[in-house]
Amino acid sequence: MLPKIHTLERIPVVGFSRHTVPDSILCEYCNRKIADYQRLELVLDSQPECDIVGDSEGTLFISGTLATALARIGATGYRILPISLSLSDDYYRAHPNISALPARTSDFYEFIITGRCDGPWVSSIRGESCPICHQPIPQPQDFDRFMSELLGETQEHTRLVDPATWHGEDLFYLSEPGPAIITDRIASLLGETGNLRTEQIMNRNLVEHMMPKYAEILSRSGWVQERCSKLGSAEWVS
Ligand SMILES: [Zn+2]
Repeated sequence: MLPKIHTLERIPVVGFSRHTVPDSILCEYCNRKIADYQRLELVLDSQPECDIVGDSEGTLFISGTLATALARIGATGYRILPISLSLSDDYYRAHPNISALPARTSDFYEFIITGRCDGPWVSSIRGESCPICHQPIPQPQDFDRFMSELLGETQEHTRLVDPATWHGEDLFYLSEPGPAIITDRIASLLGETGNLRTEQIMNRNLVEHMMPKYAEILSRSGWVQERCSKLGSAEWVS
């Protein structure tokens, strides 16, 4: 029987990476990702408060605690790589009393989701395959649609997965660019470890003034927003 699945969205960005090997991991023809960084240095702008975090380029990182918990339940579809950590100038400015990496931040790994599945594309138009990396290239959308996506005015799309392309991985990406997909047991683990917790928005007036569209979304959810990650909808289709 197929497990329930979800998208994993809203990964908090905590800094940037440097000293990456190789220099770039993007296909030179289509700009889609074709490799993973090895032993990079994550420079923290802020203290990670969640067990899955990202950098400004979208590389994911996982705490040692959550990595251990994933291994304990025998989760599949990912691997972890050691990284080094340091603190940015912004971090030191915000924390004048700190002169070295706090011990509890020192245990993070690069989190590489290796599972790959396919399914009908839902938010971009599937184009031809790239002649270099063979991944399908998203076709440019019309400008109005692009702008409304950018402004968050469109409904979130349910990601669709063809079960014939799935080999039992708990974590995977689809051929369509977008968030990772996780099985329900990973979602449960994230819930149990506080990584799906929410918080009440305090400064509603400011949000209404600065980001009216986002305020509408928040008012529908009772002015509650996710502190770490958020689950979105994904479904199996044949
Ligand atoms: Zn390519």
